[in-house]
Amino acid sequence: MSESLLTVESLVAGYHGSRVIDDVSFSVGPGEGLGVVGANGAGKSTLLRTISGLVAPASGRILLEGRDITRLSPDRIARAGVLHVPEGRRVFSGLTVHENLRTGTIAGAARAGSSADPYDAVLDLFPRLRERLNQQAQTMSGGEQQMLAIARALMGRPSVLLVDEPAMGLAPVVVKRVAEHLRTIREHWGVALVVAEQSANNVDGIVGGHQLLVDGRLREVDSGGSDRANLLAAYRAAGAD
Ligand code: ATP
Repeated sequence: MSESLLTVESLVAGYHGSRVIDDVSFSVGPGEGLGVVGANGAGKSTLLRTISGLVAPASGRILLEGRDITRLSPDRIARAGVLHVPEGRRVFSGLTVHENLRTGTIAGAARAGSSADPYDAVLDLFPRLRERLNQQAQTMSGGEQQMLAIARALMGRPSVLLVDEPAMGLAPVVVKRVAEHLRTIREHWGVALVVAEQSANNVDGIVGGHQLLVDGRLREVDSGGSDRANLLAAYRAAGAD
């Protein structure tokens, strides 16, 4: 891969002494993507939560443009440019689309060197949200709420976006639309994208083929070999649309 934006080195993390993330290393550059693929409970969310500072790692390092962010608080990691769209699209249900987007501005405004307001660019990317600016989030469809959750994160001007199971609970046609938006964010906005999904099929088009496969313990990306081929075949079968 080219110049690295996010680098994860020998990361070990879990809960109460358990090793959910077991010696994981990878790197993602600007405009590149990584799919984190695995079954329920395999550790995908734990990996994303560790990168965004919500779970403290037992060992290993997380670097952003070469700077060690491993022990920073979640808000400082967000302000540094790593934003997390958690599983279950947690938008503020009682706030309007406009208000939800403005909550996302806060982290971005605090970033050094950021001046341009991304509001219009974000709404250009999600015209459906522009049509619904004054609508309460809770009245929108699951797909629209997922787009709002992604759009809100973009308001924070991420250089790295961590997206946890964006396809969950959505109809296949909506999954496709969300995937197209994420690919645009990676390819045209130059954001480094890490996307967790249960199905390899759901992330292939978004991330451009780089996958970290999970089977209870995370493995290194592009490790090659028959283990990897077997796992990939299993996940493709599991997620076959
Ligand atoms: P899902 O598809 O369900 O989100 P996942 O691959 O994201 O699955 P994780 O949520 O990271 O998996 O969970 C990995 C393991 O860690 C599971 O065994 C889970 O029970 C455990 N775990 C997750 N969160 C906690 C927690 N807060 N405390 C203790 N154990 C946890």
